[in-house]
Formats: sequence, structure tokens, C-alpha cells
Amino acid sequence: MTHYLHRGDLPDGLSFGSAVAVDSETMGLRLGRDGLCVVQLSAGDGDAHLVQLERNTYDAPNLKALLTDPKVLKIFHFGRFDIAMFLHHLDVVTTPVYCTKIASKLARTYTDRHGLKDVCRELAGIDLSKAQQSSDWGADTLSPEQQAYAASDVLYLHVVRERLDAMLAREGRTELAQACFDFLPARAELDLAGWEDIDIFAHS
Ligand code: MN
Repeated sequence: MTHYLHRGDLPDGLSFGSAVAVDSETMGLRLGRDGLCVVQLSAGDGDAHLVQLERNTYDAPNLKALLTDPKVLKIFHFGRFDIAMFLHHLDVVTTPVYCTKIASKLARTYTDRHGLKDVCRELAGIDLSKAQQSSDWGADTLSPEQQAYAASDVLYLHVVRERLDAMLAREGRTELAQACFDFLPARAELDLAGWEDIDIFAHS
């Protein structure tokens, strides 16, 4: 079931357990230019909560509390972008985090296909539609198609994470993955501060 929250924040008292899948939809992919429109969340129970943000204020105390709650792991796919968006617009450092794209790159070295669609197809047996990916997320009201698309981006991340965790353990890369996840908030800050296209670890 999809819960569409038009009011700009999560309702009081809503719990997502120890790990919440998170994604966001924005006006575009450019940090600093493009607004953050929607944040999607799921506890991995088949329900998705879509928070359409009030873009004049970004006043969303319950959402911000969840993103910074040290007891709740935030599971992303390519969290680098969402975490930078949250830092810029919501002024929060999202932590602790897990990124299924990084985990996939470290575990699935037999392929270079690490998009959410590819990962979900192989690890969760789900065929995601990307038809609404480039729609207008700044609209006053999200269409049923947009809501379904936004929800689908968080519904399977728990399952994907479980599979990837098993693969990481098998390949002896659990700790390396954790170190990468721990670096993500700093990577996002670098992106916002002007190092977006620079590999800070590269020789030149
Ligand atoms: Mn998405």
C-alpha cells in the first residue's frame, strides 16, 4: 500500500523499525540548482510512504529526525545523490547509511550493470518500470503513475540488501563495504562543496 503524504512531513509516531529504505525525487540531477520534491520511505513491509515536501520551507521535523536517527539504518540505491540533496535542502547529515549500488559494485563483479532496475531484477526477481523517471516531480499533486513509480523505488531495497549482504560476506568484502558506506556523508559534502567531479583519492 502507498501512503501519499501531501502535508510535507511524516505523521507523528510512525516507526520504520531498525532499517528504512529511502529514495527521493528531485527537479533534476544538478546539486545546488534542483529542488528536492519527494522523499519515499519503506520499512520493507510492502508499504511505501511518500512525503511531498513543502519546498518553500523544507519544514519536516519528523523526516529529519528519522534521517539522523543513529538507531535506524537508511538503505539507499546510489545514496550519494540523495544524501547530498538532504544535506543541501534539509540541512541534515543522513546517517547511518547503506547503499545497494556500492554493495552491488563490490559484490557483483561479474557484471557492470548496477542500476536499480538491473539489481532488482537479478536479486529480487522484480521488473521495475522506469517510465516516470523524468516526470515533473514539482507538480502540486503527484499522479497515480508517479506515486506508483516513486513507491517502487523503495519497496524492494530491503530484499536487495539481504541478498547483497550475503554476497559481500561470501566474497569477504563486508567490512570494505561498511567503510564505503561510512564515507558517504563526507562524499556528499564534497559534492556540494565543489569537488563533485573530482576523485579526491586520485593521484592527479
Ligand atoms: Mn527514484
